[in-house]
Amino acid sequence: MLIKRLKLSGFKSFVDPTELHIEPGLTGIVGPNGCGKSNLLEAIRWVMGENSPKSMRGGGMEDVIFAGTERRPARDFAEVTLLAERQRGDVVHLLGDTRRSEEEANDNNPLFGDSDDPELEIVRRIERDAGSAYRANGRDVRAKDVSLIFADAATGAHSPALVSQGRIAAAIAAKPTERRQMLEEAAGISGLHVRRKDAEQK
Ligand code: ATP
Ligand code: MG
Repeated sequence: MLIKRLKLSGFKSFVDPTELHIEPGLTGIVGPNGCGKSNLLEAIRWVMGENSPKSMRGGGMEDVIFAGTERRPARDFAEVTLLAERQRGDVVHLLGDTRRSEEEANDNNPLFGDSDDPELEIVRRIERDAGSAYRANGRDVRAKDVSLIFADAATGAHSPALVSQGRIAAAIAAKPTERRQMLEEAAGISGLHVRRKDAEQK
């Protein structure tokens, strides 16, 4: 999965609509302390389904909405759009359908519509007092669907590919079970655990 574009509006310090094009190769984001570098990484994790306010450095999920400054009023919603491109080898399961083969499932995945289209656009929007809503390629989807898409592609909100400030120190101090979770996410199998739990509940 390759991230190509990130659009933010009302998300944390990005009050005005901001669009970032991520070109192939190495991209560096440089700026003074407090300019919003970490907020960008958090936007990527948030649109991928992050639901822990703590890991978004907030007390509640609505804290991602622009809170206002002396000169600008607070916003009542935040929206992040992520445009990604599927890569060969990304596995995309047909959600909730375990009968079909993986290949068939990919061909019939309603989130992708035309299965030849490698582009995947995910939008997450949060409104005050109304919670979050997600869209995948223009269709309403559940938070869980979004998390699974990314988990299957060996990425996602908890992917070790996204290294936040302080994460290295946390990995060193982690308990063995937490470290195992990191390895499973890196191996792209954490989505399977979610499905097993679901199957056990049924
Ligand atoms: P550093 O170099 O210190 O790591 P940084 O570039 O990573 O800095 P961030 O931590 O991304 O900076 O940005 C912090 C800024 O975002 C702070 O100025 C903070 O006030 C602002 N901010 C965070 N949440 C909100 C919010 N909900 N509304 C408005 N501003 C916010
Ligand atoms: Mg930072």
